[in-house]
Amino acid sequence: MRLATITNWAYGATVVLTIVSSTTMILASNAQDRERSAVEQRYLLDQETAELGTDIYALSDRARQFVNTGDPTYLAAYRSEFAALETVEDRIRHIGDAGATAGELDALKKAVTLADTLHDEQQSALTAQESGNSAVARQILFGAEYERQLDRAELEVQRFQDRLDTRIETQVRDATDISRVWKRISEVVLALTALLVLFVLYFVFKQRVLHPVVKLSDVVNRLAVQDFAAEPPEISHIDEIGDMAQAIRIFRENGLERQRLETERDADRTMRDLLSRMTQRMQGCDTLHDLKEVVQRFVPEIVPDMPGRLYLLDRQRNLVVEACGWLGPVRSSAQFSALSCWALRRGLRHRPAGGNVDVPCDHIDWNPDHPVDTLCLPLTAQRETLGLLYFEMPVGGDTPAAAQLIYFDMLAENIGLAIANLQLRDTLREMAMADSLTGLANRRQLGDVLETQISQAERLGEPLGCLMIDVDHFKRFNDNHGHESGDTVLRAVGLVLANVTREAGLAFRYGGEEFLILLPTLSPVQAEERAEDIRTRISALQLGHGGNDLEPVTVSVGIAVAPDHCAYDRLVRTADAALLRAKTLGRDRIEMAKLRNSAGG
Ligand code: GH3
Ligand code: MG
Ligand code: MG
Repeated sequence: MRLATITNWAYGATVVLTIVSSTTMILASNAQDRERSAVEQRYLLDQETAELGTDIYALSDRARQFVNTGDPTYLAAYRSEFAALETVEDRIRHIGDAGATAGELDALKKAVTLADTLHDEQQSALTAQESGNSAVARQILFGAEYERQLDRAELEVQRFQDRLDTRIETQVRDATDISRVWKRISEVVLALTALLVLFVLYFVFKQRVLHPVVKLSDVVNRLAVQDFAAEPPEISHIDEIGDMAQAIRIFRENGLERQRLETERDADRTMRDLLSRMTQRMQGCDTLHDLKEVVQRFVPEIVPDMPGRLYLLDRQRNLVVEACGWLGPVRSSAQFSALSCWALRRGLRHRPAGGNVDVPCDHIDWNPDHPVDTLCLPLTAQRETLGLLYFEMPVGGDTPAAAQLIYFDMLAENIGLAIANLQLRDTLREMAMADSLTGLANRRQLGDVLETQISQAERLGEPLGCLMIDVDHFKRFNDNHGHESGDTVLRAVGLVLANVTREAGLAFRYGGEEFLILLPTLSPVQAEERAEDIRTRISALQLGHGGNDLEPVTVSVGIAVAPDHCAYDRLVRTADAALLRAKTLGRDRIEMAKLRNSAGG
């Protein structure tokens, strides 16, 4: 039940009880009035009847004194007092008017009639005295009969008074009893009203003051220990407690806002820490393989519950190819044309779903009935596209807010820079290992490759061949047509060597116009065939420079195959010796090292 209903009922009950209490008080007061009037009536009637008794005795005394003394003054006094007496009817009416009952009046009538009889006797006695018959007069007034009648008259008056007393006594008692009952009822109702008022006051105090204050105190205690789940009670009264509740509500909202900002700041710091750690690890990566591991480890931490992939651009094929993935994305192809991604086309973040109307990318398996919220982020560095970072937002899960997309951008930027660094490092390494003029591996690289090839051939017991190639009279190209034409010859020879070498990285520019080719697993005969092929192709070159035809190019080749011709570690030196022999024997020719047993190693 609502507080207002209860208090309204209580107010109504209080009013009713107050009316009842007032009515009973009025009734008690009426009863008291009745009691007072009964007492007054008795006083009045007592007075009247006392006068009657007094009159009877007074007249009797006056008559007796006259008879005894013969003094006429007594007679005159008797006559005047008797004249003052009212008639019997008048007296009875007086007393009747004063409130006497019919029974009482009958009793009174008897007394008055007796009094009148006595008056008659007195008149007879006075007449006898005046006529000098004093003995008769004395006989009448002092006789036994007269005395008896006087006593009877007094007795009747006394009886009337007793009846009157009895009735008035009863009336007064009844009135007193009724008055007492009404007074008691009135007191009880008053007490009830007081109790009700006290109860309502207590109830209102408890509901309006005590309960809210206890609740507010509990909320304040919880808020003091940063427990912002504590909700202040809804108090809408316009009073001090309502003001207090409002103040606590504002305090809580401020606290919640502060907590939200702190949580946001902490989350932002955690995110930036993760991003910075990831960037540091990526900077330490030597290979793309290391980079993929770092990406796979960190991205699901930075962007939890979002499957995704890292794609790299294969420039030669103009394809975007998966480098690595996490959490199993299902909607995007493993490789696709760079043109089928809007993010790569525009060089900007692309998110076709997620509240914006947009075109889905072709590389996404798009189903309009079950659209997926995807995010493509181009990886660029120095305005060059390097690849793509792809995410699938969880269906029905939390999609990133606009403010969080900044982390995706930072992620893409950092990964893009790391890939660019890695590619730059690879290019520099290649540049350091490759000969810039011919594109073949340089002599620095030969040391490592030779070591690997020798240990592999030795382990497998396979042959390892080596061709040492030198351009014949190369100096003449420089001398006759300039240094540039010499370079042209070297580039052309390098290209032939690169083409005839099946295994990449096994043709080297040994120095100047000298080249070296390693031929794993080839027998001396096969090596010689390869050398002949090279010699033929080079001599077939038709080169020109600055509008002039250059002379035909010829090469001399020295062949050595380990272990047929030498120990593995003497392979290059043995081939070089064979080359020297080819030069000595007239150039444009191939010389094979001598077999070990015949050459003595
Ligand atoms: P031979 O038949 O005995 O090998 O005679 P050759 O002239 O080929 O040999 P020589 O050792 O006399 O001369 C080699 C020349 O190659 C000397 C050097 O100036 C030139 N040379 C070395 N490296 C380069 C280069 O990178 N470019 C050009 N244009 N010339 C180079
Ligand atoms: Mg030379
Ligand atoms: Mg030469």
